[in-house]
Amino acid sequence: MGAIVAIVGRPNVGKSTFFNRLIQRREAIVDAVSGVTRDRHYGKSDWNGREFSIIDTGGYVVGSDDIFEKEIDKQVELAIAESDAIIFMVDVETGVTGMDEDVAKLLRRVNKPVFLTINKVDNAMREEDAVEFYSLGLGEYYTLSSINGSGTGELLDALVKELPEVERRMMTNTAK
Ligand code: GDP
Ligand code: MG
Repeated sequence: MGAIVAIVGRPNVGKSTFFNRLIQRREAIVDAVSGVTRDRHYGKSDWNGREFSIIDTGGYVVGSDDIFEKEIDKQVELAIAESDAIIFMVDVETGVTGMDEDVAKLLRRVNKPVFLTINKVDNAMREEDAVEFYSLGLGEYYTLSSINGSGTGELLDALVKELPEVERRMMTNTAK
């Protein structure tokens, strides 16, 4: 098994669209323990020969806005705990939202690579709109369009460079 990458963010930013673009096959739907609120899709992907697992978080969320926000926080905490790198996806069409700011606050404390990824940048004009996401305090960002695929290569190049060599670490442990 390779490194694990999680895609987090509020609903409708395009996480699942991007996930579906990345995976070659959908492996399983697991962790549906607490019913509809916590399903997570796992898939496998590779980029330039580097294989990694990818988690799409936050399939369905039911309940009040309050539960809703708590659920997203939970998804982010889980992603932080179990993945080697995090793709934090936001949406250039809506711009920065309060929920984005909440997620950013959690991720600013994380000691793992976080890739702020601005989705729905379908054309050059939207590239200019993306600058407002600097306000999230996560530094540089990647812009892409999950629908037409533009920009995905730049993100994946940067991502695989930051992924730890999980295979080697696991082999070392077994040998002990
Ligand atoms: P999720 O809730 O974050 O998983 O978001 P989805 O992947 O379900 O997408 C939410 C909506 O955004 C859908 O209608 C998608 O077709 C749309 N969407 C996703 N990626 C893009 C994109 O790159 N450009 C545009 N224009 N729409 C997108
Ligand atoms: Mg989704």
